[in-house]
Amino acid sequence: MLTIAVSKGRIYEEALPLLASAGIRPVDDPKTSRKLILSTTREDIQLVIIRATDVPTFVEYGAADLGIAGKDVLLEYNSKGLYEPLDLGISRCRLMTAVPVGQQPVEGRIRVATKYVRTAKDYFARKGRQVEVIKLYGSMELAPLVGLADCIVDLVDTGNTLKANGLEPVDLIEDISSRLVVNKAAMKMKHAAIDELLQILERETKNNRSLEA
Ligand code: AMP
Repeated sequence: MLTIAVSKGRIYEEALPLLASAGIRPVDDPKTSRKLILSTTREDIQLVIIRATDVPTFVEYGAADLGIAGKDVLLEYNSKGLYEPLDLGISRCRLMTAVPVGQQPVEGRIRVATKYVRTAKDYFARKGRQVEVIKLYGSMELAPLVGLADCIVDLVDTGNTLKANGLEPVDLIEDISSRLVVNKAAMKMKHAAIDELLQILERETKNNRSLEA
């Protein structure tokens, strides 16, 4: 049996066609079912549907053999205990800094609100900027509007959320997409099954890329 951890929401929805290409179709719909473990049309594969930030933890500790997680989550988790063999090319967006439209550059130490504390600290350290990073769990866009921070670090897709809150993107920190991650022991112990799945997903992501081009 192979267990694949997938995060709820956008990544799950966008991963479904990829999984289907390997014959993996969940038997229950997580939107209507309360089951956290989903059987699939492949008897040897089950899905666990969890929070995005928990996917690397489940995979690192072997509770899931494989996982599908955003690069944003993987950067923040920052583990050497996982393989990351494949960019699935789904749930693409950008991790960016953003400030209020027209804000003058802030001298000296700036306050940055984000849920990506480690990634933000690393980024500003590389730029040689002194920052105080304030951890938030959501609604980052609000922080500059109420004087909590000078700047935010958040995911940007269309830019509409920033715009609606009077913010503008400034620097690109990282291009983000969802990645397949694999538990290191499982890669050895279940090599044949994982390799077969990897090859199918690799072929499918390549096809998708050439369709886009
Ligand atoms: P947008 O308004 O299209 O720029 O989307 C920005 C909002 O959607 C932000 O609140 C982001 O946190 C969230 N978002 C955008 N892209 C993604 C993604 N690929 N995965 C998760 N959240 C995202």
